[in-house]
Amino acid sequence: MHSSRKTHRVRVGTVEMGGGSPVRIQSMTNTPTSDVERTVAQILELVSAGSELVRFTVKDEEDARAVPEIARVLAGYGCSVPLVGDFHYNGHRLLTRHEDCARALDKYRINPGNVGTAEQHDANFRTMIEAAVEHGKVVRIGVNGGSLDQGLLADLIQADLEAGQPRGTRGVFLDAMVESALRSARQAQEYGLPEDRIVLSAKVSEVQEVVEVNRALAARSRYALHVGLTEAGMGLKGTVGSALALGILLSEGVGDTIRVSLTPAPGESRSREVEVAREILQGLGLRSFYPRVTACPGCGRTSSSLFQELAQDVQRYLQRRMPDWQEAGLVGVESLKVAVMGCVVNGPGEARGANIGISLPGSGEIPAAPVYADGKRLETLKGDDLAPRFLQILEDYVRHRYAPRPATTPPVPDLKGLNPPPGVRTEAIEAGLDARKACIEERSVVGNYVSTAEVRLTTQTGPSHPHPGVGGVSTPRRPNATPGGGFRTGARS
Ligand code: SF4
Repeated sequence: MHSSRKTHRVRVGTVEMGGGSPVRIQSMTNTPTSDVERTVAQILELVSAGSELVRFTVKDEEDARAVPEIARVLAGYGCSVPLVGDFHYNGHRLLTRHEDCARALDKYRINPGNVGTAEQHDANFRTMIEAAVEHGKVVRIGVNGGSLDQGLLADLIQADLEAGQPRGTRGVFLDAMVESALRSARQAQEYGLPEDRIVLSAKVSEVQEVVEVNRALAARSRYALHVGLTEAGMGLKGTVGSALALGILLSEGVGDTIRVSLTPAPGESRSREVEVAREILQGLGLRSFYPRVTACPGCGRTSSSLFQELAQDVQRYLQRRMPDWQEAGLVGVESLKVAVMGCVVNGPGEARGANIGISLPGSGEIPAAPVYADGKRLETLKGDDLAPRFLQILEDYVRHRYAPRPATTPPVPDLKGLNPPPGVRTEAIEAGLDARKACIEERSVVGNYVSTAEVRLTTQTGPSHPHPGVGGVSTPRRPNATPGGGFRTGARS
């Protein structure tokens, strides 16, 4: 599927994308960048959810001054997630006046529609590209439907009117997006930026349109592509729209890094967008992050709520055990599939197709539940203690199937117990992570297993085992791990 399109491999700080690398998940903060503590807290939260790059706006001098401090504080936490600065209108000034900001970032996002008026456009764009060349940084040329280069659009509309078969305003608009991205990329190369330090994106808010422009970009270039719907919206709409657009593109091999641009509901965690991105990648079979439970929806054949309760028990069990399994080095356990089914109609088939599965008796069936492992019938459970016995079988299966071996995929970062750098006030950081913990605890009931790090934040106790970094967090230090679990940075500074 995904490997069909060869793009340039781009290294952004500690992360590679494109050229056959895993599709990377990125996200964006919504805190004021100049508020270092809140921004750091949210970056840590996004990283703990699985974001592999984090972007924030750099809109003025105050933001630019905060960027090196953000990088320093993150480094103090052992977090080296690549940082992306989002520039509009004044990036040429900020990147030249604030060299330490230009150096601290790993990637600059430049919107060619927002780099200045017609006369200054090229000069401003060149200044930013030259800053990237000087500091060895990556640039995303990010075209957006809401801020398309109007001069280019006018030229293309005029050309379309003069053409024999006009394409129409919307068609020309989409062409202009593709053209803007490609022209800017060529320009950047002329100013000295290598093609393997360029990422392109072209975002609109309609699914079919974002598919069309990205297909065109993919057909006409080998630049690494950042794909996503812009302004996807809230809740279900944003989630479904993003899943559709990314599902189509990624299944065609288009897209090297993704962002799900969800609008959070008031009070909702910003990291929801990262969770959705993970679900999309895992649903497409492109990456594995956590075990999955297949459960039938239930119908008139289900005789009681037993199967719903068991599905929930299994989900909770996986959530609770996953951190320990990962720490024990059970590599591959994140791909585990468990089936909990309600009756004989589809039960045995689904249970056989999973790594391990159980088919509960439906209405009118003999009260017995066959358990399958790797497609073979293992045993049949009966009686009131069916749930704990199935969980024990599941535990035994995992321990046997995923024998410890040297990790090839580093575990999800564990932020618990990291020390802040000297002099950093941690109240805001801690408050952000506490909010995250509350959100996780609430969701755990509905079986939305999110990430190992989240579970660690809420449940893990006892001594730690240092592990290699991932997603930007390297070997955590936790000399003062709180016995009851939880992230207690403030107590240690
Ligand atoms: S597996 Fe059985 S109980 Fe579940 S939805 Fe299908 S028919 Fe209904």
